[in-house]
Amino acid sequence: MDLKELPPHLIALGGSYLGLEFGQMFCRFGCEVSVVEMSDQILPREDPEVSESLLDALETEGMRFHFASKATQVAKVSDGLELAIEKKDGNTETLRGTHLLMSIGQLPNSDDLGLDKAGIATDKNGFIRHNGKLETNVPGIWVLGDVKGGPAFTHVSYDDYLVIFDNLVNGKNRTIDNRMVPYALYRDGRDVIPAMRRFWLRGFVGGALQVLSYGIAIWAMTAAPIAIVATLRETSVLFGAAIAVIVLKEPLRAARIVAACLIVCGLVMIRVQ
Ligand SMILES: Cc1cc2nc3c(=O)[nH]c(=O)nc-3n(C[C@H](O)[C@H](O)[C@H](O)COP(=O)(O)OP(=O)(O)OC[C@H]3O[C@@H](n4cnc5c(N)ncnc54)[C@H](O)[C@@H]3O)c2cc1C
Repeated sequence: MDLKELPPHLIALGGSYLGLEFGQMFCRFGCEVSVVEMSDQILPREDPEVSESLLDALETEGMRFHFASKATQVAKVSDGLELAIEKKDGNTETLRGTHLLMSIGQLPNSDDLGLDKAGIATDKNGFIRHNGKLETNVPGIWVLGDVKGGPAFTHVSYDDYLVIFDNLVNGKNRTIDNRMVPYALYRDGRDVIPAMRRFWLRGFVGGALQVLSYGIAIWAMTAAPIAIVATLRETSVLFGAAIAVIVLKEPLRAARIVAACLIVCGLVMIRVQ
């Protein structure tokens, strides 16, 4: 984070949100960027279509990827570093780079807070222990945000604040137990347009064929609708959106529902435009 120069060749260990975000940034700064990922796709938690479409975009920008590759050793050499990777098939390879970005997990910066002096308990990774009301083990001391562990999102931290505020100031008894945490992947809109066009088309054609043959329409219900609407908002590019999952025995009813979905999508697009 304190870099004073652009890395000539950055190796990002981990092909998830942070590795890709920083990788793309440095790639756009003109650096060579290689990403090493243990699983078979970037963003292993995402739908394969999403990963595929982003991979397309990132490779087009010039980033390189090593999948099914586990880093086993890193060594300093005169002009940078060498990273040994072991492939899923057992083969090994050594990558040479100048800088290494470790983007494979998160740890809290809690070790230098002197928590022990206040008697505040942490778990073995340093996250501050708390109950559902966000109280620590020390009465009167509360915890919120990333440092308490769990999903690390801005909206989670904000909701933590609302819970604590209600408990502390409004005398309520709110808890984060069973809280539903919405989740989203944010990307540059330009990354998703070409791939989403393709996926939309595939879903549309597939859905239409299924309506004709079985009276069943299963249209691509992946990230496409969200990405399409977001992209439309950002770019005002109109290329269509028709997404629904309908499982019906009667073709006529299916056709009516499909028509209704198309009208709704049309209205959404008009609104977005
Ligand atoms: C690259 C990146 C991209 C992200 N993208 C997203 C995203 O798209 N959407 C999303 O929802 N979340 C995203 N996150 C996660 C999100 O940033 C965090 O979940 C959120 O910032 C947590 O808020 P917080 O208040 O708990 O901690 P922070 O935002 O980290 O704030 C903690 C603050 O405390 C300060 N501090 C630390 N130690 C001390 C000390 N000893 N004394 C005084 N001050 C101190 C720090 O300087 C900092 O300002 C991203 C995170 C990263 C790293």
